[in-house]
Amino acid sequence: MNGKPQPKVRCEVNRCVYWTDGNLCNAREIEVTGSQAREGRATDCATFALRGLRSMIMAAPNVDLQAAMDYMRGEEETEPNPQVTCYVDTCRYWTVGDACRADNIQISGKQSGREERTHCATFEPEE
Ligand code: SF4
Ligand code: SF4
Repeated sequence: MNGKPQPKVRCEVNRCVYWTDGNLCNAREIEVTGSQAREGRATDCATFALRGLRSMIMAAPNVDLQAAMDYMRGEEETEPNPQVTCYVDTCRYWTVGDACRADNIQISGKQSGREERTHCATFEPEE
C-alpha cells in the first residue's frame, strides 16, 4: 500500500484482457482519464486492452497473478483489486495525488472493444 485512497473496483467490460469473473479487474494498476470531463461518459479506463494473444503478452507485467490465483482458489478476501490513478479532476471524488476517494467505483462499457467506450460510471461533477 502507498497510502493512496483505494476504491473497490467493479468492471463490466468483459472484453478487456484484465477482466475476470465477478466483474473484477486483475490489473495491478489502472488509470482513469478524462481531464475536464463534465459527465461520466467523457471518462475512459485508459488501461483497457481488447482481449487477444498480443494484449495478453503485453498486459502480463500489470496482472496481479497472486490475487487472481488466490481468488480462483476461493479465498475471496483476497479478490483482485487494482490501484486506481485518476486524472479526472472535475469529479467530486478526485483528490490530490490523482487519487479517488470513492469507496467503490464502477467501470462500464459491457462488450466494449475500444477504450473510449469504457467509462467510470461513478463520476459525479464537483459542486
Ligand atoms: S476496463 Fe479497466 S477496470 Fe475494466 S477490466 Fe479492463 S483495465 Fe480493469
Ligand atoms: S469516481 Fe471520479 S475520481 Fe473516482 S475514478 Fe471515477 S472519475 Fe475518477
